[in-house]
Amino acid sequence: MHSLSAVEIRKRFVNGDVSATEIANHFIDRIQRLEPQVGAFLEVFEAPMLEQADRLDAKRRGKEPLGLLAGVPVGVKDLLNLKGYATTCGSKILKNFVSPFDATAVRQIREADALFVGKLNLDEFAMGSSGEHSAYKVTKNPWDLSLVPGGSSAGSAAAVAAEMAVLSLGTDTGGSIRLPASFCGICGFKPTYGRVSRFGVVALASSFDQVGPFAYRCEDLEAIMQVIGKHCKRDSTSLPDPDFTSVSFAERFGTSFRVGVPWQFLEGLPNESRAIFDRSLSHLKALGGTVVEVDLSLLTSSIAVYYILMTAETSTNLARFDGIRYGLRSSKASTLDEVYDLSREEGFGDEVKRRILLGTFVLSSGYQEAYYKKAQKVRQLIMNQFETAFQGCDVVATPVSTGGAFAFGAKKDPLSMYLEDIYTVGANLAGLPALSIPSGHLADGRPIGLQLMAPQRHDAEVLAVGRAFQAITNYIQERPTMKGGAL
Ligand code: GLN
Repeated sequence: MHSLSAVEIRKRFVNGDVSATEIANHFIDRIQRLEPQVGAFLEVFEAPMLEQADRLDAKRRGKEPLGLLAGVPVGVKDLLNLKGYATTCGSKILKNFVSPFDATAVRQIREADALFVGKLNLDEFAMGSSGEHSAYKVTKNPWDLSLVPGGSSAGSAAAVAAEMAVLSLGTDTGGSIRLPASFCGICGFKPTYGRVSRFGVVALASSFDQVGPFAYRCEDLEAIMQVIGKHCKRDSTSLPDPDFTSVSFAERFGTSFRVGVPWQFLEGLPNESRAIFDRSLSHLKALGGTVVEVDLSLLTSSIAVYYILMTAETSTNLARFDGIRYGLRSSKASTLDEVYDLSREEGFGDEVKRRILLGTFVLSSGYQEAYYKKAQKVRQLIMNQFETAFQGCDVVATPVSTGGAFAFGAKKDPLSMYLEDIYTVGANLAGLPALSIPSGHLADGRPIGLQLMAPQRHDAEVLAVGRAFQAITNYIQERPTMKGGAL
């Protein structure tokens, strides 16, 4: 059951082949067995899931209409509010914060009759590329427990990879969906900026943040996008577009399409990753793709631009965690200043503090022109370069990262961690839809992902190409082996 697609599970539930209670019990069983080794969850919703399943079974018996995700186990990154449960953001500062409401995406999934399996671990406030910055626990890569799952949506990727959930939600500000998807051998999709509501999602960098799904199969990403890819009145940056609808590859592209590759930007890709990327291009050619070179040379500055702008936005967004309104308040504080200082000192981890300092610096008078405003200009130039590139191609293809998952503690220097995002941040700077899709394994078995990007609002096209790619490859047949543990 756990290896079935979301679409298939729903079908079997709706047809009466399996009950929601059976589905829930199956996954609870699996979580009990695997979660102690993987550590993907911050909270497992055992009893609530069974209650939800019970209500859903009654709904089916009563012949009420059933939603698009009926009976499908879905996990949620702990950066999204889910009413009545803690939303910690992987931070001590929000340890005791209980959400009084559902994020829009969570509400939509609830209304689509999915079963919530639990809240998933992440790098503190979604800052990180490995999953190592959570204040609570270490999530491991289900392929090899000595490796990181990738971050920041570490738990969301690991839970789906280990088949403890069929779908999950993550967020992607600079690559936090695509990188862990690639490291864990599953699909991850960052929609166009504004395609999925940010209402109820704790803000990291508001002009980059985007909610998106994880699954083994593109068809499941399409299914959940139909549920969450909708305009939301409560998010001022929500696209006014009609609801997301999937398109078929043949319908959209017929028998030919153009795949842009920024070869110059990909110089320096290690040989083994390059060979896998070349093979992915040959699959795209088999689908009718013509590979053309595109100029995205400005992306060599994307890491610098991203880390200036995102830290600026983050330092502003995190100012609300001050020990006064919600979250931790230091018991050692006796003056107002101490409440601010000590609560933040005790509540935030090192990476979060580093970014608040950096962001405050680039926004400070005297430096704003030199850093923040300059980075804004380069961001616009990068957008323009993407626009020109897309005049010559339908999708841009790159690897998701230069290599696969790495060992815990391997990237001690923050800059080397930031460089993991070299291929992913471009899509966030330009607000583009971007998919990470399994494209093979390194010689030692670590999965590697292919990234496909399209112009803004072309979410359905990216997923259509991904689905066609999966139809002619069999990379997801292989499932995690829990090396260093027991399946
Ligand atoms: N790794 C990037 C960062 O640390 C991306 C984070 C994200 O997408 N949430 O900022």
